[in-house]
Amino acid sequence: MQASMFNVRVPLEQIGQGSDVFLMNTFTDAQVIVSRDVADLLDRLGHATEFLTDEQRDALATLTEHGFVVNDREGERRKVDQYFRNIRESKEQLRVTVLTTLQCNFACDYCFQGDHGDHNKFAAKMSLETAARVVQWTEERLDAIRPESFVLTLFGGEPLLNLPVAYYLTEKLWHATQARGVRMLVNVITNGLLLTPEVVDRLAPYGLNGVKITLDGDHDTHNRMRPLRGGQGTFDKIIENIRRVAGKCRVSIGGNFDESSVDSYPALLDFLREQEFADKLARVSFKPVIREPRPQQPKGLIPLTLVGSEGKSLNGTCMTSAGGGTSICDNCNFLDDKMSFLREETKKRGFSTVDGVHMGPCEIHRQHAHTIGPDGAIYACPGFTGDTQFSTGHINRDQSGVQAAAATRFETLAAWKECNDCAFIPLCAGGCSTAAHLELGDMNRPNCHKRSFEAGVVSFARDAAVREVATVN
Ligand code: SF4
Ligand code: SF4
Repeated sequence: MQASMFNVRVPLEQIGQGSDVFLMNTFTDAQVIVSRDVADLLDRLGHATEFLTDEQRDALATLTEHGFVVNDREGERRKVDQYFRNIRESKEQLRVTVLTTLQCNFACDYCFQGDHGDHNKFAAKMSLETAARVVQWTEERLDAIRPESFVLTLFGGEPLLNLPVAYYLTEKLWHATQARGVRMLVNVITNGLLLTPEVVDRLAPYGLNGVKITLDGDHDTHNRMRPLRGGQGTFDKIIENIRRVAGKCRVSIGGNFDESSVDSYPALLDFLREQEFADKLARVSFKPVIREPRPQQPKGLIPLTLVGSEGKSLNGTCMTSAGGGTSICDNCNFLDDKMSFLREETKKRGFSTVDGVHMGPCEIHRQHAHTIGPDGAIYACPGFTGDTQFSTGHINRDQSGVQAAAATRFETLAAWKECNDCAFIPLCAGGCSTAAHLELGDMNRPNCHKRSFEAGVVSFARDAAVREVATVN
């Protein structure tokens, strides 16, 4: 018997929450608060356990039952391999993210399209003909996989700039799923400018689950970071739209911060708290703009978060979504020391937010999660869209040799294999493969933000201790 490699512990006295210890096992997701003596038992495994008292043996039995104690390391590693295989092969859910257009009505500060006035003239927009093929292609997947649920995410660019395709896809796929007894959920990731009650009412009967809207700081900061292409501010209009739709559907707020904007977020949180729709917000969470060390050569793409050191986009599409309740890739949350600060500020004001621990594994590890570009090209995750060498197929054609090779690369991703005995492997899977590809030149290497996980666990432990005190009292 030995302690699981996935145990993490937080002595609560370190965070002023008493003298016990918070224990979590990231593989089983078991969480307990135990006395220091019990926690110390885990260190004594393998040494002189024959001298344990009955009480200590009972405690060990409970810890074993919850996965804190395992037979041997090899067995544990085999279980983790199986866990990732199960995630990859799971047929419970089919997820399709559709980029209805790469056009955008914003000129975000961190988006290289911001000062390119003719971008929208050339940016791809899905035709109704292609949308009809997306429906057919999805129906074929539904029949082949027979999932319990189907998640359609509308994304871009700004997805609401192509409302005919957005409406067409949701309505047709709703009928397709209902005919097959499959539950359907629709998420929209939008800059919020065109999110009117009419749009929500039109989507609501077809499984609208939630919308995620980006606010990049307080009024002035947001207007600086996310102006219209003509330079006008967008904050007031977005807030007005949130006010009008907040009772009609789940609204999550996300935001992308950098050094120049991060200090304005507490003021944004105060502002949101004062709004009458505050308690209707499903989730509020922020993440840093990811800077890329090497220049890239994007074509026709509008990434709003992944930007290069020279202000150029990476090869991904708009990544403004990560961090909210309807995220495409919530893994992109965990990147910066400021994350923990803003998470605590968000919680302090009573908003639901990401916990900084339960992050993944993300879409890229799931065989039945796809992103489809406006031209019908298929990708393993939103972060690789637009770079044809990483396309895994096309809705109109058989898979080419290059696409088959790309698909194999994604299917065999296992960056966590290099993570040795890191306790966060089940939650992290080695980090964001897009970031690893961009920053390290190899998608199959760990992109490590362990400190963020550690900070998340401390925060999680603090909340658990507070809850326990409240229960006892
Ligand atoms: S690899 Fe990165 S960008 Fe792609 S889904 Fe995962 S976290 Fe998101
Ligand atoms: S990338 Fe870092 S935090 Fe993630 S599993 Fe690997 S070592 Fe752990």
